[in-house]
Amino acid sequence: MASTDGVKIHPAVDNGIKPGNPSFAGGVLSCHCASNPVRVRVGAQTAHNHVCGCTKCWKPDGAIFSQVAVVSRDAIEVVENGDKLEIVNVEAPIQRHRCKGCGVHMYGRIENKDHPFYGLDFVHTELSDQAGWSAPEFAAFVSSIIESGVDPSRMDGIRARLRELGLEPYDALSPPLMDAIATHIAKRSGALPA
Ligand SMILES: [Zn+2]
Ligand SMILES: [Zn+2]
Repeated sequence: MASTDGVKIHPAVDNGIKPGNPSFAGGVLSCHCASNPVRVRVGAQTAHNHVCGCTKCWKPDGAIFSQVAVVSRDAIEVVENGDKLEIVNVEAPIQRHRCKGCGVHMYGRIENKDHPFYGLDFVHTELSDQAGWSAPEFAAFVSSIIESGVDPSRMDGIRARLRELGLEPYDALSPPLMDAIATHIAKRSGALPA
């Protein structure tokens, strides 16, 4: 059994995971700029919150995982300093809208209507000081942290720590989300009835 002593995942989970509040109805995300921060209102509770090891998600300083959840795109509204936002990569399936001042990603949006997750935006609820957001449920794209420079010899300890936190580690998304993607593709191809 690999030692999990001192393994850090993300500040929102390292000291234990706070349960979400089922009646929580959203809040406001703020970027890290000391003046004129970008503020985005999220008008609903989030879903599928998880920690993510991919190289594309925004991570706070020193964290090897991001924490990211989804919410209906209709629930997202930029309420202050939206002129500071830019899209990281317009070619990427998820267009991440980041603050030009501090680099924090405020929301990620899918514009391709054929994408399995079209209609959902990706948000980092740690940018809100409100409590009650949905709690992280699993760890996605765990092996990808090596691409950010994590030594492969640390992976056993990192996966053990994720399990200790109740965040089952997967090297893609969780099985329900992977099944949802495959079902979408099968319905489009005709392999399953639409
Ligand atoms: Zn900023
Ligand atoms: Zn990610």
